[in-house]
Amino acid sequence: MNTTQPFDDDHPHEECGVFGIFGHAESTALTALGLHALQHRGQEAAGIVSYDGEQFHAHRGMGNVGDNFSSKEVIARLSGHSAIGHVRYATTGEVAMRNVQPLFADFEFGGLAICHNGNLTNSYKLRQQLVRRGSLFQSTSDTEVIVHLIATSLKLSVEERMIDALRQVQGAYSLAALTQEGMIAVRDPMGVRPLVLGRLGEAWIVSSESCALDIIGADFVRDVEAGEMVIVGPNGLRSIRPFGRETKRLCIFEYIYFARPDSVMDGVSVYESRKRIGAELARESHVAADIVIPVPDSGVPAALGYAAECKLPFELGIIRNHYVGRTFIEPTDQIRNLGVKLKHNANRAHIQGKRVILVDDSIVRGTTSTKIVAMVRQAGAKEVHMRISSPPTKDSCFYGIATPERNKLLASNMSIEEMGKYIGADSLAFVSIDGLYRALGETKRNMKTPQYCDACFTGDYPIPLVDHDSGQVQTQLSLLTENA
Ligand code: AMP
Repeated sequence: MNTTQPFDDDHPHEECGVFGIFGHAESTALTALGLHALQHRGQEAAGIVSYDGEQFHAHRGMGNVGDNFSSKEVIARLSGHSAIGHVRYATTGEVAMRNVQPLFADFEFGGLAICHNGNLTNSYKLRQQLVRRGSLFQSTSDTEVIVHLIATSLKLSVEERMIDALRQVQGAYSLAALTQEGMIAVRDPMGVRPLVLGRLGEAWIVSSESCALDIIGADFVRDVEAGEMVIVGPNGLRSIRPFGRETKRLCIFEYIYFARPDSVMDGVSVYESRKRIGAELARESHVAADIVIPVPDSGVPAALGYAAECKLPFELGIIRNHYVGRTFIEPTDQIRNLGVKLKHNANRAHIQGKRVILVDDSIVRGTTSTKIVAMVRQAGAKEVHMRISSPPTKDSCFYGIATPERNKLLASNMSIEEMGKYIGADSLAFVSIDGLYRALGETKRNMKTPQYCDACFTGDYPIPLVDHDSGQVQTQLSLLTENA
């Protein structure tokens, strides 16, 4: 699901997570638990819709899963044997209650709830066409385009209407939908965003990441394949491939940063891949140093791999405060200037007098690296060498990850040497694109048909950027503003 001004500060802004279960008496409680495990994919809002055989029940709210799904009353009200849920970080559509998913609509054929991880690249164009034909949009989210395409389809069954709708959209999508007949899950033809299938007793589960299966004691069955539609109902599971076969292009940044390290994606462990990227980084760009320190938490696995490869001690030289919540009131400039370090603090004993290698996963605007390098110097480091476990982020993502406009990306404006000076490091190096592919088990990036979507590093966009190329993404979608 996709917003217009993503990632304009240095807070963690991520994409979305979806979860769905069919055939369990505790479907809502399990969905809430599953969403807890996917919380890292979106902290702006959360929602669940359940179906009890007669009625759909919905609960949605701004904030974290725990803020909205901790009360027994809420869980009990969302009765039924099937449920789908969503955690949201807006990458299109403003921050407002009306954009919180799952979306629900009453159609000619009955009710349908739908939630989406990803971002459509032709949603604005489709929206304009739909509005001209009389569709009245209730949200500014791109996901609602799918709802209207389903509503206006002339096909008969829900399944056929969904296929009809999805044949018209372009972009990245992993979807979970709930109907009166069952649950439908779909992954776009390139499989840009992840989606897995699991089982808990007789119940079927779909989830953005496998870590959500682990926490509810469900078995991992397999990844939903690129271009696959899975239909689950009282008679079991069916799989169809209505969109033809394209080369799979899973987002490589899931491995670098987004996914939880305890997830396995398309057969590859996220944690192990991060360690291997760190080892590649060490082989490619090691300098003499005394200690390897991760920027927590995102840099930890890569720093472990780096330290093991160059046989240097690994220490938690920076401590992160995990309790800085969304509700925190930013201090005044006067207090900030006193040097209040809210999120990170240096562990001086492990830094003083040392030549430090700092490892983080990426540099976007350079805000984090600049702060951390200065902090490590202040704590008495003799040298600070920054190592990044991704290639330079030079291009924006249009497939569901919040990145700033291209001109705000440090790497699109500066050489690596200039970036190193900008962040105040003695040296700066990034893993190479082939090093990254090697860490993921490939010999190198296949230039003709790359194995992953790496557009943020290469500018090679596998799915056409229809709205962006026609300059339409920034256009106002709604005249209404409302309280979040
Ligand atoms: P910046 O401070 O703008 O250079 O952002 C880099 C930091 O943000 C790194 O520590 C990353 O772990 C983290 N990061 C990278 N990409 C994203 C993203 N799309 N949303 C939120 N945080 C990110």
